[in-house]
Amino acid sequence: MTSRMNPKWNGQFSCFDLVAKTASCPRSVVRVRDFEIGDGEFVVMAGPCAVESESQLLRTAEAVARAGARVLRGGAYKPRSSPYAFQGLGVEGLKLLRKAREETGLAIITEVMSEEDVDLIAEYADIMQVGTRSMENFALLEALGGCGRPVFLKRGMTATLEEFLRSAQVIALAGNLQIILCERGIRTFETATRNTLDIAAVPVLKTVSHLPVVVDPSHAAGVRSLVPVLSRAAAVVGADGLLVEVHPTPEQAMSDGNQSLNFAEFRHMMADLQPYLELQHASRQLGPQLLAAGGAD
Ligand code: PEP
Ligand code: MN
Repeated sequence: MTSRMNPKWNGQFSCFDLVAKTASCPRSVVRVRDFEIGDGEFVVMAGPCAVESESQLLRTAEAVARAGARVLRGGAYKPRSSPYAFQGLGVEGLKLLRKAREETGLAIITEVMSEEDVDLIAEYADIMQVGTRSMENFALLEALGGCGRPVFLKRGMTATLEEFLRSAQVIALAGNLQIILCERGIRTFETATRNTLDIAAVPVLKTVSHLPVVVDPSHAAGVRSLVPVLSRAAAVVGADGLLVEVHPTPEQAMSDGNQSLNFAEFRHMMADLQPYLELQHASRQLGPQLLAAGGAD
């Protein structure tokens, strides 16, 4: 595998060749319907953890679109920690996502948990989400190589950045270079937050890899009060966008209500992001210096 890796980051890890940043491929852009992720626009994906009902989804879609989101998130197949928790509406949920896209124009991101579901979900989704628990489901990653849709790869909750990029390389090797990386927090000894947002992962990934990087502050925080500030941090360190959980009545959500924003909270968060996005643009010229400091290529 050594020959397929780029020079080391900080003496620690190399980057796999198909996803590595090189002089000829400094960054890649992922096309989704009528917009692109990774080309400078900060793309916000928002919606409920799980699709629960038509009114829940359509109301959320309208609210997040009005506040500036470009993509509607919503799980139809849910990887729940408990076998007794709500597992999602399945195909019924996919149909509701399609209806929300027709009504709002938002693109759809939804999770695929099994290689057997790839074709079905690709019929409905604009972006295929691979959850943290599936980051090393290599049969799934290989099946996504031929799905014809961008893949949103979440970092495994105990994965190093090298392991994360190795999974991205598996998808790329299988034929799909339309990959978006997502930092969603990792497991550490800290219990004040659900996971620990590895904010440094963003500039490291953007230094060694050409792939766009999106931050999920919701699963990192586990509590809604931290979501806006982690989103602002993501903007400042150069993320290409966010994945945020939003629900009409978070206290009644069937999953992840504690970390979901209501509509007003999401609207305020979006409005408050503006100065931080300007900071991101102002500091963009620091990118090459970081690259030199990191020693990658
Ligand atoms: C989700 O996005 O709802 C989800 C289950 O995320 P993760 O895989 O990061 O836990
Ligand atoms: Mn969730």
